[in-house]
Amino acid sequence: MVDLQSRFRGCLLGGMIGDVVGAVVEAETPEYISKRFATMEALLATDSVEEFATSAWKVGRFTDDTQMSLSVARWLLEDPSRSPSQLLGEFSRSYEPCRRYGPGTEMILKLYRDHPQQWRELATAMFPHGSYGNGGAMRVAPIGLAFRGDLKKVAETAKDSCRVTHSHPLALQGAAMQAMAVAIATSITEVSVGGFVDPVRRMLNEFEDLLQDTSKFTTALDRIEAGLGLRETCLAMSTLLGTGIEAFEAVPMAMYCFLRHPDSFVDAVTAAVFIGGDTDTIASMTGAIAGAFHGCRSIPTAWLQRVQEETYTVDYVGNLADQLFEAFAE
Ligand SMILES: [Mg+2]
Repeated sequence: MVDLQSRFRGCLLGGMIGDVVGAVVEAETPEYISKRFATMEALLATDSVEEFATSAWKVGRFTDDTQMSLSVARWLLEDPSRSPSQLLGEFSRSYEPCRRYGPGTEMILKLYRDHPQQWRELATAMFPHGSYGNGGAMRVAPIGLAFRGDLKKVAETAKDSCRVTHSHPLALQGAAMQAMAVAIATSITEVSVGGFVDPVRRMLNEFEDLLQDTSKFTTALDRIEAGLGLRETCLAMSTLLGTGIEAFEAVPMAMYCFLRHPDSFVDAVTAAVFIGGDTDTIASMTGAIAGAFHGCRSIPTAWLQRVQEETYTVDYVGNLADQLFEAFAE
């Protein structure tokens, strides 16, 4: 039996470590990744990789996924009113250019500094209908932990946290789905496919009631169920579900990686890295779900030791998870 505090730690550290290992091969193809790195150990043993032909990416660093997840955790701890503008302020204050933010989010966080009152308008600064990238979903794990006993609250809070930078309905659906997956993983002792897929379908019905198209996600859920029934590999399913930066590709793909490897944190996250595409985000979301289910002891020490951060260290993240646990254990 995994205790709740270990699940909180497993979720935040699992998300961080998934981001760290996925960042090494972000935007690469599965063919390139498996040719360059025979195993996860080989990937972790590498010092640095070329980054977009300009400079080197130091293996052991995390990206925007972790940076923004930590902001969401602090927001939950420090702002009882759960004000979206406070969250955007927190994102803006902790923004660091080296974390590979998407261009839309980067623009919003920079604009916020000079125009904090216009936070509502900023969400459509780059895309008139709002972004449907996975940037809203990749950071919601702390919300799933905090409100795990109330899936409606999980979905609503995830949507509120998402729309400050990603206001398209598809981004909101993805954020709600990922936060619910974390909440469910935190609360169960045995994994069943229906236990994950059915509540997400019910959540999507509410979007349908608002006349919003949910077919991208409902189709993905059908494919997840069919693929698991046939025991399709994550790599085979990646051609159907997609590994792109869109919320409707990355979020279902992360859920598949977890459900296909429900017995092993290592196998789930490794699968998420070797399918290529938006690997840092997909592996981070997979790691958050798997860590919430298995607890922090499922994460290999050798992986955690590979993290190379000065401020937001493994100890810092573990500590933040403990604070969340203290605040939201009841
Ligand atoms: Mg990233």
